[in-house]
This record gives sequence, structure tokens and C-alpha cells, in this order.
Amino acid sequence: MNPIEKSTTKLIELDPNTARLTVDLSALKTNFLLLNEMTGDARLAAVVKADGYGLGAARLAPPLVEAGCDLFFVARAHEGAALRDAGISQDIFILDGLAVAEPEQLHRYNLTPCLNRLAEIERWGAYAQAQGIKLSAAVHFDTGISRLAMPLAEFETMAGDPSCLNGIDVAFWMSHLACADAPSHPQNAKQLNRFKAALARLPAAKACLANSGGIFLGKDYHFDVCRTGIALFGCRPGKLKSERLSAVVLAEARVLQVRDIPAGTTVGYGATWEAKRPSRIATMGLGYADGYPRHLGGLADVGFKGQRAPIIGRISMDLLMADLTDLPPDLVSAGDWAEIMGETVRAEELAAMAGTIPYEMLTSLGRRYRRQYA
Ligand SMILES: *Cc1c(COP(=O)(O)O)cnc(C)c1O
Repeated sequence: MNPIEKSTTKLIELDPNTARLTVDLSALKTNFLLLNEMTGDARLAAVVKADGYGLGAARLAPPLVEAGCDLFFVARAHEGAALRDAGISQDIFILDGLAVAEPEQLHRYNLTPCLNRLAEIERWGAYAQAQGIKLSAAVHFDTGISRLAMPLAEFETMAGDPSCLNGIDVAFWMSHLACADAPSHPQNAKQLNRFKAALARLPAAKACLANSGGIFLGKDYHFDVCRTGIALFGCRPGKLKSERLSAVVLAEARVLQVRDIPAGTTVGYGATWEAKRPSRIATMGLGYADGYPRHLGGLADVGFKGQRAPIIGRISMDLLMADLTDLPPDLVSAGDWAEIMGETVRAEELAAMAGTIPYEMLTSLGRRYRRQYA
């Protein structure tokens, strides 16, 4: 860290601060336990890639371990190494596998690859044999997403000659659903059938298919290991029910000013919003630089003590404005905190309005929040 970054971090820890992010670790644990109950005998893995969906993987992992989680997934090798540095000793699987990482780099940190190509299987197996040991790996093959996992032709080669797996302990066979957030999509059953047919042709080992959406598709999709990410944070995968999951993230912005304006006054860049009546306006210290989508201006609400007020005009880099006129006159004062995203204004709701998904809302949260873990 250079000295400028250091002092910025320090300033963010100081009051006054205008944006804060509260991560409710006990809600996280409750969600894990609930999902673990849903998945029955299957082992539930926590996916904490992208620094725990932007919330801080090193802070999320210990309470997840307390809740019984003994298996983590991350995307990049360095994300796994960071979890090791944070003292996590449980199994950590690297979704990228050996696409760019070297076997010895993963082995040094006791990280386990998801092997996504035949060539990766060969390299991991050769490395293990050269060390005179067997090494664990997940073997990830494609059943209909055409992304990182082993393509069909390579799967055929592997199924035809499982000796290519010499040196490797297959922790589980793995695949990934393309449409798990859309329960009625025919792709789900198609992939489930392809996965089962593939397992029947492979040496016996555990199997892992479902992400959060897959867990909600029911028992047929659970197999031996499930991988959950977004549901841990209380977000519904797609249109699936999440009533029992608790919101883990509360993003808030400080009210910097409250003012009364006469009818005919415009608010914000472009003068796109004009008061039709005498109005009371709050200006908050948060904007698109904090990862709040700019085009939610005029669409989304913010919350004040459980009540909602519409965002008006354009969202600026550092500021956004809300119309308080319909709220009780004494409800909001300068210095108060407005809920930007939380229980009153859910991430799923904002994502839908912004034409995106809660995953992107969470991972876009910027660097200017003071982060606190409750
Ligand atoms: C991100 C990811 C997950 C987690 O998905 P959620 O929808 O957040 O539960 C699981 N498996 C793979 C392969 C992923 O890339």
C-alpha cells in the first residue's frame, strides 16, 4: 500500500463519514444454516469469490466456519491465497483451476483446483506424481453453459480413459447450471439429465451441481455438494422465493442538507426534475462513484426509518437527492442516515430497476464506504 492509499483508508475510518456499509455477520450465519438445512445431507460450500461478492471474504469466512462451513470456492488463485493468509484452514477450491496458475502455486497455499480442461488434469496429475503424492481436485465439465468447464469432446476422452486421472483424488465431479435462477427454464432439466448421464460413465466420486438457484430447484439438484454464493447474502436468485433469507448488507448515506424549495425549482444536473409544489429536498453524500447506478435517478427510492422517499433528478458522482415532501416533517434532518440498500429497499429491487442482478449491485459497491461488521 502506498502512503496515499494508507491515509485514505484511515480517513474513511474517521467520523464524519458520508457512506457506510454494515455487513450483518449473524444474518450471514443464519442464511448459511437455513440453506444447509435445505440441502439436507449434501455438504454446503460457500462461494466467496470477488472478495466475498464485494463484502470482504476474509471477514465473512470465519463466521461461516463457525456456522459449520468447511468448504469454500473462489474464482482466482490469489483470492484463495488471501483466505489462507486470513487464517482459513478449510478446503478452498479455485474455480479458475490451472488456466493461468501453476500447480506449485496452488499446492504451496494448499488450494485445490477445479480442473477445467484435459490439459489441466494432465498437469495436476503429473505434478502430483512428480511429488510422489496424490492431490485432490474437482473435475469440472460442461453440461450447457459453454464457459470455463471441460468441453464435451474432452469429456469423452476422459470418460474413455480414466487413467488420465492418475495422481488425482477426485473430490467431486462438478458442473454449473446456466438457468438455475429461472426454475421453469427447460435448460435446468436438460443439464440435470446430462450431468446424471455423465456421472454414470465416470469412476465413482461425489458430485456437485447446484449454485444458489440450483438449491432452490429441489433435492434432485443437490447431489453431494452444493455451492452457494448470492443466497448467503439474503438475495433471491432470480424470481425464487427468499422470504426466509435475511438481508446481510445495509448501505447507507448521510443526509448532508435538507432544504425547502418553492414550486418551479429544478433539482440536479440537466434540470430534469422540477418541483410541482413547494417541496422538501434532502441531499445525500453518495453517488455513482460509490457504485450506485446513475440511471436509478428518478426510479429508485431511499429509506428513512423504514419509510420510502423517491430519488429525484440525476444522480451525481458524489450526491443524490430525494423528495421528502410526503414524509412526516420532522422525520429527516441533516446528519441522519438514509438507507440506500437494505431491508426497506432490497438489492433485488434496485437491481431489477437498474437492468442488472443483485450480484452486480453488491460487487459494484465502491471503496468510499466505511465498512463495519456487526
Ligand atoms: C459464482 C458461482 C457460483 C455461486 O453462484 P450463486 O448464484 O451466487 O450461488 C457457483 N458455482 C460457480 C461455478 C460459480 O461461478
